[in-house]
Amino acid sequence: SKPGVAPLIELNDGHTIPSLGLGTWLGFTKEGTTAPVTDDSVQKAVELAIDVGYRHIDTAAIYSTEEQVGAAIKKKIAEGVVAREDLFITSKLWNDRHAPEAVVPALRESLARLQLDYLDLFLIHWPVGQFENGTFDLTDYAETWKGMIDAKNRGLAKSIGVSNFNITQLQRLLSMTPVKPAVLQVEVNLNLQQSQLIEFCKMQNIAVVGYTPFGSLFHSKAAPDAPPPRTDEQALLRIADKYHKSVAQVALRYLIELGVIPIPKSVTPKRIRDNIEVFDFQLKRQEREVMKAYDRNYRTIAVTMWKDSPYYPF
Ligand code: NDP
Repeated sequence: SKPGVAPLIELNDGHTIPSLGLGTWLGFTKEGTTAPVTDDSVQKAVELAIDVGYRHIDTAAIYSTEEQVGAAIKKKIAEGVVAREDLFITSKLWNDRHAPEAVVPALRESLARLQLDYLDLFLIHWPVGQFENGTFDLTDYAETWKGMIDAKNRGLAKSIGVSNFNITQLQRLLSMTPVKPAVLQVEVNLNLQQSQLIEFCKMQNIAVVGYTPFGSLFHSKAAPDAPPPRTDEQALLRIADKYHKSVAQVALRYLIELGVIPIPKSVTPKRIRDNIEVFDFQLKRQEREVMKAYDRNYRTIAVTMWKDSPYYPF
């Protein structure tokens, strides 16, 4: 494979998705809200990512990074580095827009911030609806999905999908709609390998995008109670050294071999470059077994604030 190029994967609706993307969420504050955007680091990151071969960018209305993603895309298209049709841009419907008639207007607002006229993928961010004042919106996600289908029919999103749905919710949605989600985006990493959910999606031909692909691998991010491994784990260092890769790259490669599309986030130039250099080596079965052993059903992104919603997925 060419350096810096992620092979394409076919979706169940006939479109294709690059098998690795760039995340653009700046993470949580100590208070548990999304960190504010204070500089243009996301724009710079997306510009570099496109320069080094990324074609898939993940954002969401709630991240407040859509403007910067859009500015970077506009610049790279103007420079002739890339054409719009070679990019795969994902955004997501926030929880306060679950009314079916609110979906298309919310998508149009995302498109305006991104300066785009269509998304490649639009996702229901969470099955949980919540009004701005904090009370739960009990709109059934199957109703929200009708708004998503409307968006697709209007050509505003080439593909539509869901995020943070569990198997029961996916099965229920599939039984109620003629339009299958093309993608499920969920947390997948060494501590949360999601084998049942991935198996279910394989059978249904739903592509799995893996968020927080590094989980708790980095000391700087891991909670005190997070299970191993960290980047100094000897068994992982041995595998990484063998392929002249980092532990982070080996962790991404493992997800790709599970059939997952990872969307690692970085605003650090060297890391942005490294994270896509994972298509020129292959793990041995025994190495995958070493990595399988870190599976703990442990969530790095634990969102317990919605646990009283009837649609809470975890
Ligand atoms: P990641 O697993 O991508 O980890 C990001 C962190 O790892 C950052 O602190 C980054 O630092 C650091 N990092 C990245 N690459 C390296 C490397 N090679 N070596 C060392 N450190 C590195 O976590 P995210 O939670 O950001 O998940 C990825 C993306 O998934 C998000 O950005 C977002 O787009 C999406 N997401 C979706 C969710 C959903 O509900 N659908 C929920 C959570 C995430 P730095 O940037 O400083 O380089």
